[in-house]
Amino acid sequence: MQSREETSLLLEEVINSIGSGVVVVDSQGNFILWNPAARQLLGKGPTNEPPERWSEIYGVYGDDGTTLLPVDELPLVRAMRGQSIDGLRVYVNNPDVPRGIWLSVNARPLADRAGGIVGGVIVFNDITSQKMVEKELMRSNNDLQEFASVAAHDLQEPLRTIGSFLELLSNRQKDKLDDKSLHYMQFINEAVERMQNLINDLLTYSRIQSRAKPFENVDCAKLVEEVLANLDTSIKESNAIINVDHLPTIKADRAQLMQVFQNLIANAIKFRSPERRLAIDIRAQKKRAHWIFSVQDNGIGISPKYGQRIFGLFQRLHPIDQYPGSGIGLSVCKRIVERHSGVIFVESKLGVGSSFYFTIGT
Ligand code: ADP
Repeated sequence: MQSREETSLLLEEVINSIGSGVVVVDSQGNFILWNPAARQLLGKGPTNEPPERWSEIYGVYGDDGTTLLPVDELPLVRAMRGQSIDGLRVYVNNPDVPRGIWLSVNARPLADRAGGIVGGVIVFNDITSQKMVEKELMRSNNDLQEFASVAAHDLQEPLRTIGSFLELLSNRQKDKLDDKSLHYMQFINEAVERMQNLINDLLTYSRIQSRAKPFENVDCAKLVEEVLANLDTSIKESNAIINVDHLPTIKADRAQLMQVFQNLIANAIKFRSPERRLAIDIRAQKKRAHWIFSVQDNGIGISPKYGQRIFGLFQRLHPIDQYPGSGIGLSVCKRIVERHSGVIFVESKLGVGSSFYFTIGT
């Protein structure tokens, strides 16, 4: 067992040698500890000025990188007031840190044995390179989205021209063409239609971010009712039995949530088994801070080896002439669910049926 003095020396050694900045203040806002890493990261040592001037002296800015952090939002001040903070991102830029630096800050109040607050402590780390990578990723994501959107939009026009001239040509030449040529024409027509669907789906995918709406209260029971009305024709054609459990009201982007249900239910109908009457169950279950929604069918099922792959863009397990589609529907669902901070996954047995699950925060 070490003596108190030895422990204290050891702690001092640790605090002086770690790469994380550590700063401690007493309840009056006097600095009582400022380790070398803090000096290096902030470019300066402790000041005698009051907390109201700290943001200005050290050049502490909020997440936008341009607004000086108000005194009430300074992590150290919040810690002195009893709050705990994890991973707050601040930008520090002052004449001693001229290139600027991004920090992730954790803060804790300091309490005495009786539980009274006697000060606060912050520990902070340099996350500048992580922030740069995130910025670059966001930029390239935006570029990619812009590219997909423009490409899909611009492809529509020549495709429309092909479609309409094909129609004109077939109307004019119908009587003169032999069976084989008519057959070729039909192939071209089908390919144009497929391409049109593909482009529409790609546009839908690329608009998930750009056309996103703020979250609102959504009554899922009503929403699913609407989805079922939209799919009425194919539900009747497939003679499906649809069972909808009690569904909650949640905060979500209504149009996007509708798209998720619509894609999952339409897939359940499309991939039904020819051997039995289609039954679809739509349920919701509350698990801590989440709702888990499920759309279960007794269709053809999916082999477990495909697992999460079907949620990738253009991933399909069947030939197009057997089951039409573009392989984008589930990727749209995934992107929407992730925008709602949820996850989507499937449990399935080949030849028995599939259950698609997705979570949304309450
Ligand atoms: P699409 O339906 O346009 O092919 P999706 O992204 O919606 O594209 O689905 C990807 C693939 O996942 C489908 O091609 C199919 O192979 C499989 N799949 C999706 N839903 C089901 C389901 N309910 N039952 C069986 N297979 C499914």
